[in-house]
Amino acid sequence: MWSAGDHSRRIRSTERAKAHKLWSVPRVVSEIHRSDVPHVFTDTQRLYTRNAVPGVAVYGERLVRQGNEEYREWNPRRSKLAAFLKRGAAVFPFQADTDVLYLGAAQGTTVSHVADVCREGTIYAVEISRRAFQKLIDLSERRPNVIPILADARATEGYERLVGRVGVLYQDVAQRDQVSIFLENLSFLRAGGFGLLCLKARSVDVAANPRVLYAEARRTLAKSVTVVQVVELDPYERDHAAILVEKA
Ligand code: SAM
Repeated sequence: MWSAGDHSRRIRSTERAKAHKLWSVPRVVSEIHRSDVPHVFTDTQRLYTRNAVPGVAVYGERLVRQGNEEYREWNPRRSKLAAFLKRGAAVFPFQADTDVLYLGAAQGTTVSHVADVCREGTIYAVEISRRAFQKLIDLSERRPNVIPILADARATEGYERLVGRVGVLYQDVAQRDQVSIFLENLSFLRAGGFGLLCLKARSVDVAANPRVLYAEARRTLAKSVTVVQVVELDPYERDHAAILVEKA
């Protein structure tokens, strides 16, 4: 049976957990080093980005400190971009000065890591849900290189005046028409730029074999761009693939 003391202890520890979510005390470590991927760090098992806002976690991720730098753990079960890296990305097209059009930003989990990497670039973060958008605004207040845009990625006229040509188009919208949304937004990508489509098979057709859908998406995209790689994200994200393309 719970006593009143147990109850208040429980509340206190929940409050502590919540507080840690935003203001974590970084653990001091000495094992973090550069990974094979530019701007991404590792302790040989986990991935990290260099925290652009030291002392602040975005979604409860672990913060670690080494020397004068602080790093945020990048969880491949929370971020399909981290899963893409874990599953063997051929190209990681994000550089310090890359401008990114990010469709399906949600609360900014992955956006925050992209913002850590592309510190001198701008991340145009498009999100349709007002609820998620509020969190995105909060994120952009601490990370000025994130521009939150409340819009439907199917209606590009809603943001075409704001977004110029970008070096990377990233999409994670989990909609039936994911491929046509991506094709529509390719107009924002400059020649030589890369696109990464996170395809959720179950949103396209819940009954179809995901590999058949990946192949179909690959064929459709290949009519407009060069498909560089199709990477299945299982076991980090079930029935998802990341399709990397390059614009000529
Ligand atoms: N990319 C996020 C991350 O890694 O942190 C998670 C994205 S979540 C799987 C998909 C998001 O796409 C949801 O927040 C949803 O509201 C948004 N979305 C769905 N349809 C959209 C559309 N047509 N335009 C813009 N955003 C959309």
